[in-house]
Amino acid sequence: MVVVGGGVVGLSTAYALLRRGFAVTLIEAAAGVGRKASYANGGQLSYRYVSPLADAGVPLAALQWMRRADSPIALTLRADFRQWRWLLAFLRACRAETNRRNAEQLLTLALHAQTTLGEWRNEGLEPFAWRRAGKLIIHRQGRALNAAAKHIVQPELQQVLDDRECIGIEPALAGLHGRFAGGIYTPGEEVADCAQFCQALLTRMEAMSHFAYRRGNASFVAEGDRIGVHVNGMAVEADGVVAATGLETAALLRRCGIDLPIYGLKGYSLTVPDADGAVPEVSVTDYANRVVYARIGTRLRAAAMVDIGAADAEPNLRRIAQLKALAQDIFPQASRYENAEAWAGFRPATPTGLPIVGRSERYRNMFINTGQGALGFTLAPACGELIADIASGTRPVVPLAAFAPS
Ligand SMILES: Cc1cc2nc3c(=O)[nH]c(=O)nc-3n(C[C@H](O)[C@H](O)[C@H](O)COP(=O)(O)OP(=O)(O)OC[C@H]3O[C@@H](n4cnc5c(N)ncnc54)[C@H](O)[C@@H]3O)c2cc1C
Repeated sequence: MVVVGGGVVGLSTAYALLRRGFAVTLIEAAAGVGRKASYANGGQLSYRYVSPLADAGVPLAALQWMRRADSPIALTLRADFRQWRWLLAFLRACRAETNRRNAEQLLTLALHAQTTLGEWRNEGLEPFAWRRAGKLIIHRQGRALNAAAKHIVQPELQQVLDDRECIGIEPALAGLHGRFAGGIYTPGEEVADCAQFCQALLTRMEAMSHFAYRRGNASFVAEGDRIGVHVNGMAVEADGVVAATGLETAALLRRCGIDLPIYGLKGYSLTVPDADGAVPEVSVTDYANRVVYARIGTRLRAAAMVDIGAADAEPNLRRIAQLKALAQDIFPQASRYENAEAWAGFRPATPTGLPIVGRSERYRNMFINTGQGALGFTLAPACGELIADIASGTRPVVPLAAFAPS
């Protein structure tokens, strides 16, 4: 099998296939693996917080956010019919019933991902700063906290806490006392370093038989009802091909007549190296500002924002300054903000939030694994396993219909 794309999704797919006995060649265009969307993401393995961005309250909230320069979501409309088509499909997916159905599908997939990662961690991967840190989602207003409490998916595993109880669990929040209502605490959630996980998977696979890693810019070529792979213009032998090229997948497959509804939602992160002082041990989400915070090894990572229609991949200085101000406000005691590293990446997102995982209807030797959006790190092991299930003719643990490429 040839897997194209060395982000967290492609690497997880390659590893799942190798574990099932396939010979795998992984092709990556960049100088190393995990350099694009998988590089400095929020680090959240957020198994029980998978509700899609497309939700009933979002269109109205987005209108209010549009008027605020510091809004968590920003929309720049472009003369680009693909953006408009994506936005229309997004609005359709905001229906409460659609959101509920899609969230259920994602929860099943995410819980499978947690089990899968648990198995993989026991298979000799190098450390990737994995911790069962627990997740605390804090709400500034009592009304928002009450609304969130109604959406708890596993009440036996999650707790609704007032502000004092939150500070008891995460003392680094002490400075926020009196400025938030409380939070939802989920002890089973995890954090890790996505870029290190990518490298750990590559190192592990390089130590296994029947694995090859090639650097090169791949293209997909239609050959009747099959797909061929060319790397730097040369054909590569491939019985089966997996397209796991993140945001690029849409453009790469369009040339073969496959139209995928993937759009890049730009986001930002700040990483404070060697953070000390009051760094949170628990992973904290400031819901009102949609910022996630996690201690990843010795670093503090803050990640946030959805810019729709961003022109380039550069970290926007205004957004970065905003993220730094929010982080300093909530965790003022965590030091060394002046050394923080800024990063921006594009989440490869479908309008519904459901990833596209499955066999192409048109090309029988092609598999597609992309569109994980804001949950790529969380979902990657499960999505990789699903591709391995289909390729090996095993009945998938998770029903596939919702994720099938149309
Ligand atoms: C700010 C931010 C915060 C996030 N936080 C979280 C989080 O906390 N938890 C979570 O689960 N997810 C998070 N995500 C989402 C997650 O990072 C992505 O969903 C995930 O990284 C996507 O992985 P991927 O492998 O599909 O894409 P990528 O990592 O972009 O990998 C695709 C790879 O394909 C390669 N490629 C493309 N075209 C070609 C070609 N023609 N030939 C060869 N190679 C090619 C690229 O070079 C790249 O390496 C976040 C994203 C952002 C932007």
